[in-house]
Amino acid sequence: MSLSPEDVVDALQGVIDPELGRSVVDLGMVRDLRVDGGAVSLTIMLTAAASSLRAGFEEQVVGALSVVSGVARISLSFDAMSDAERSELAVRLRPAAGGEPGVSVDSSTRVLLVASGKGGVGKSSVAANLAAAFALRGRRTGILDADVYGFSIPRMLGIQEQPVVLGDLAIPPMSDGVKVMSVGFFLGEGSLVIWRGPMLHRALQQFLSDVYWGDLDVLVVDMPPGTGDVALTLGQFLPRSEVLVVTTPQQVAQEVALRAVEMARKGNMTPIGVVENMSYLEREDGSREELFGSGGGDRLAEAAGLPLLARIPFDPQLGACADAGSPIVREEPGRPGSRALFALADALFETPIAEPQAAAIP
Ligand code: ADP
Repeated sequence: MSLSPEDVVDALQGVIDPELGRSVVDLGMVRDLRVDGGAVSLTIMLTAAASSLRAGFEEQVVGALSVVSGVARISLSFDAMSDAERSELAVRLRPAAGGEPGVSVDSSTRVLLVASGKGGVGKSSVAANLAAAFALRGRRTGILDADVYGFSIPRMLGIQEQPVVLGDLAIPPMSDGVKVMSVGFFLGEGSLVIWRGPMLHRALQQFLSDVYWGDLDVLVVDMPPGTGDVALTLGQFLPRSEVLVVTTPQQVAQEVALRAVEMARKGNMTPIGVVENMSYLEREDGSREELFGSGGGDRLAEAAGLPLLARIPFDPQLGACADAGSPIVREEPGRPGSRALFALADALFETPIAEPQAAAIP
């Protein structure tokens, strides 16, 4: 039996656009398909000309077609969609994204907010590494950088490019399986900080509604530090969110962190636990030195009525990896810091998603 274009299309159903999470056939990205004897040629229309996804598509197409009997030669080319084609694609994606204003993710998606009372405690580092650890464990993972006082997540995850915009939908670029979106991609460093009240509310709502996340198991959100109105506004647009509060062993970090827990409760977010960061330095012989005092995590956990979920060691490699654009859990999974972060990531998925509580503190 000779090879037909239908056989090829069937096989191409299995080729998935990693950013959009759907088949290139369903997305209408396959063009100029020709079958001539055993020779197959086709073009894949990319959402952006400078797409970093080419190599991945090539591998997938060759993988999918080489098992089809009768295929002897594959010639694959790429082209970029026109603006009109991109808008059309956005319309196809919209129904999946539509619904309530704000972040649109499925009801089975875990939304994990990483918060802190003040800056510099390692909140963004914990968020970026948790997201990378989830992805390494095979979970479909997104991270939203909402720390409007300093967008550090794209840098920590080595994202160089701006997101592709299809019509009015922004498609998060990927870092080794993690979908990455930053409020900073659109609003510019620091510009939100001067906004207040309804303007801020509208800008965030608009931004959060226009991101296409696709199917996710978990969305990690790097929150702004403190208890300002940005954090409260964000909470309103994030469905059923669980909050991790990051603190350090120091007394002062612990006091401001308690206010962040209280704010989360008032804002209908559900605090689920405390993470103490920079807890100790682990030497090669396994001995530990507490560099910044001790007990901050325990005291906060007790005062807030929450479990202490992790103590993450101080690890100079953690900062070095972030500066190089790849999180430590990915680069050096055996380091003490990585082990603590993986243990936290695993523990989080051992408990069911917390049900939203009625505001506990008046
Ligand atoms: P925040 O988001 O709370 O402002 P960052 O995640 O940006 O904090 O971290 C602040 C600094 O501390 C960064 O330079 C980061 O590399 C470093 N850092 C964070 N956690 C650790 C850790 N466990 N060990 C060593 N350095 C850390």
